[in-house]
Amino acid sequence: MSDLTMFEDVRSASTPARSETRRALIKSFGCQMNVYDSQRMADMAALDGYAEAASAEEADLVILNTCHIREKASEKIFSELGKLRELKEGRRKAGFEMTLVVAGCVAQAEGAEILRRQSAVDVIVGPQSYHRLPELLRQAKERPGVVDTDFPVEEKFSRLPPAPPEAVARRGPAAFVTVQEGCDKFCSFCVVPYTRGAEASRPVDEVIGEIARLAGAGVCEVSLIGQNVNAYHGLDDRGGAAGLAALVRAAAAVPGIKRVRYTTSHPSDMSDDLIAAHGEVEALAPYLHLPIQSGSDRILASMNRRYRVADYLDIVARVRVARPDIALSSDFIVGYPGETDADFDETLELVETVGYASSYAFKYSARPGTPAAEMPGQIEERVKTARLAKLHASLEEQRQTFNRAAVGRRFEVLFERPGRREGQVVGRSPYMQAVFADGGGSLIGAMAEVEIEAVAPNSLRGRVVSPAS
Ligand code: SF4
Repeated sequence: MSDLTMFEDVRSASTPARSETRRALIKSFGCQMNVYDSQRMADMAALDGYAEAASAEEADLVILNTCHIREKASEKIFSELGKLRELKEGRRKAGFEMTLVVAGCVAQAEGAEILRRQSAVDVIVGPQSYHRLPELLRQAKERPGVVDTDFPVEEKFSRLPPAPPEAVARRGPAAFVTVQEGCDKFCSFCVVPYTRGAEASRPVDEVIGEIARLAGAGVCEVSLIGQNVNAYHGLDDRGGAAGLAALVRAAAAVPGIKRVRYTTSHPSDMSDDLIAAHGEVEALAPYLHLPIQSGSDRILASMNRRYRVADYLDIVARVRVARPDIALSSDFIVGYPGETDADFDETLELVETVGYASSYAFKYSARPGTPAAEMPGQIEERVKTARLAKLHASLEEQRQTFNRAAVGRRFEVLFERPGRREGQVVGRSPYMQAVFADGGGSLIGAMAEVEIEAVAPNSLRGRVVSPAS
């Protein structure tokens, strides 16, 4: 997944000679946390006077907010940087400056190497220190090649400026809010504990304050996000630690907030009160992304996932008691080192047992520095490919079955943006399905009851049956 986040703001002071306004572009790769971080960097840059750049060609500042999860992530970044270097040189010959920033998890993991291989980069900033970006940009003006990949003691979030309301309004009625970062789980295949650091949670009042500001700017759905979001343990107003269930309840109580989601969860942190919240908090969407990764206990142990298949199935059963209509999704890794045909068959069985609304499945690929990268029993590519195709087929069949079951039902849909054709709008069902319906732009930002009439390969088609709220 990749996403392009741009920002716009117009400032008349301290603008360069080339135009009235400096322009910036942020290119965001990877997960929702990077999307959120990109938006916060965009907010800072907007407050610093940068306007939206439609492309790198017109940008004075380019930030690549990178992701280390996918295979060859750093090679893709070097290839992007090669193109940007040429652009920067061309700009310089024409008498203008372009500043290049590499942020995110590749910056954290390979900052020094990036600078060694690509001297056109002005700033390297890790995901825990991007709140210092304005200062780093100032330093880079004097001496390019600034690196900040610390895990600072000060709280990043308390130092970030609030998002300007007009920037929030442009992003639509659904927003991400990072509530927790980092991870202490150390799954054998994952780089997150090394790139994002130890688990840390934002205090409840800080998160709720941000949600209230978002609601004031028109947001009505918030997704509470974290690498291990259900490990959340933020400081509450009595000096104790609040769990995610308490945070969900507080978020749902913010005036204007109609729907709350959270992701990504670890099965070991699905507490009883979080499961209960699914039955008790009306605004909590009936959708749970609960990655299992493998259906084999042997592989789960090797992955250091800290649960067994039976534990996972027990959680699924209890969540379904609390919220019978809940839709489930998961992540799967196929071809993990040592995975046999029998292990893989257990994954297929698990999928059949649970029945998912949608899921993500990937071939295992080694991440340097992780224990799994050094394990014996690395699986041949052709075996991984064949297993992935089989798993995808099974998951896709379940997804289509889930979508077909929506026909004739009525859902509350939050319309987020115009559809592909004139007079059409698109939003999300409570179960995360994209729903297209005919309707004017006044529907955007509103919840409306929609009767589902048809299913397309990746979306639903419906008819608005009740006024928007
Ligand atoms: S719980 Fe998630 S983020 Fe943490 S190490 Fe495992 S896969 Fe990575």
